[in-house]
Amino acid sequence: MKIYNTLTKMKEEFIPIEEGKVRMYVCGPTVYNYIHIGNARPTIVFDTVRRYFEYKGYTVNYVSNFTDVDDKIIKKANEEGVSATDISERYIKEFRTDMNALNVKEATVHPKATEEIDGMIEMINALIKKGYAYEKNGTVYFRTRNFKEYGKLSKKNLDDLEAGIRIAVSEEKEDSMDFVLWKPKKEGEPYWTAPWSNGRPGWHIECSVMSRKYLGEQIDIHAGGEDLVFPHHENEIAQSEAANGKEFAKYWMHNAFLNIDNKKMSKSEGNFFTVREIGEEYSLSVLRFFMLNAHYRSPINFSRDLMESAKNALNRILTAVGQLEHLLKQGNLTKEAISEQETAILGEADALKVKFEQSMEDDFNTADAIAAIFELVKLANTNSNNESSEAFVTELHSLIVKLCDILGIITAKEEELLDSDIEQLIVDRQNARKSKDFAKADEIRNLLLEKGILLEDTREGVRWKRS
Ligand code: AMP
Ligand code: ZN
Repeated sequence: MKIYNTLTKMKEEFIPIEEGKVRMYVCGPTVYNYIHIGNARPTIVFDTVRRYFEYKGYTVNYVSNFTDVDDKIIKKANEEGVSATDISERYIKEFRTDMNALNVKEATVHPKATEEIDGMIEMINALIKKGYAYEKNGTVYFRTRNFKEYGKLSKKNLDDLEAGIRIAVSEEKEDSMDFVLWKPKKEGEPYWTAPWSNGRPGWHIECSVMSRKYLGEQIDIHAGGEDLVFPHHENEIAQSEAANGKEFAKYWMHNAFLNIDNKKMSKSEGNFFTVREIGEEYSLSVLRFFMLNAHYRSPINFSRDLMESAKNALNRILTAVGQLEHLLKQGNLTKEAISEQETAILGEADALKVKFEQSMEDDFNTADAIAAIFELVKLANTNSNNESSEAFVTELHSLIVKLCDILGIITAKEEELLDSDIEQLIVDRQNARKSKDFAKADEIRNLLLEKGILLEDTREGVRWKRS
């Protein structure tokens, strides 16, 4: 499997640190508002990467943080007259709702910065002891000049960076490129007690600390949007490698931007749509499909036209899957063994599965992987009908669904109720009737109806069947 590594600017063969396991860290959102669809791009892309690894049999430890203390959160809290925690908890909840609707799997661990302050203080202390950090008036800075490889990810060098800085350098810093690890609180800000001041951490340190705590000193993949390469990821590398004395992440993956009118979609530009807004117009699986239609390292220009064609294209897949399900449900298919002709078609289907896998293994080329699914859909549409064998249709159906599931573009249907659940609900309904709670009895009947269970009251008792 080949992954493009921002660190080496090359596609490299993926070799995990530990066989069969992937340790993966994806920088998560700052939770002060609903996320926009640009923010959704990395969540969809790296969830798909995770799903592909899982499909290949890897156990993926997927860690993604919540930045729940930050200037923007504090500002919003002050505007609303509530606490910073009220704001961050509210938007963590909303983020989870959006992720659910986008069919993004829950991270293995979703740590919050505010719950990891002790670890941050400990790492900052270690950096000071090793000479990589220093304190001035309650602020702790990272001493970039001491980390010889600073700039290796973003391909920048310190001298060029400094030459570009025109603003007067703060007196406190030894060097203009030194960055903050800890800062004293200002009036009205949340704070934690630390050896240097009552204050709060800088942004970059949280990822170095959480990544080490939940994944170890060395990880396989570190990911995020391309705007994070500099300074965020560059600074994470400096902190982690200085503290641990080891290479931090082996593969650095960055998604390109989602643009609008060829400009990056961003909160500050005001040119954004929230996931919620788009969810009112489209099923969010359309948004997910739309994102995966492009390679993750290519910019996407958002437009309604493209969303409409994504909707139509996704519908073609869903219709084909629905048609196969219809054939299976009808129960008219032959139970005979797969015919020779069907075997040949399944051979073609298998070649398309290989094409799908090869595309995914070429740096997660989801656009080509989707093209393979369309060929498969065409194959199914032209070759399955009432005369097909059940085994043949079942195989085609499960293959398409399996590949779509790697991309997360078909959301699993609601679980069917088990027979034992149905019987229990019927007993509950009978008890409700006995105690003359007819409202509850009707509620249960309706619930069962929604799940496609029909009840029939007979003299012998209640009979049920699936519709
Ligand atoms: P933020 O909350 O701004 O730190 O962003 C969360 C994630 O979304 C980061 O990985 C960003 O790189 C990513 N991101 C922000 N805007 C865009 C965009 N327009 N297109 C793609 N990714 C973005
Ligand atoms: Zn980060």
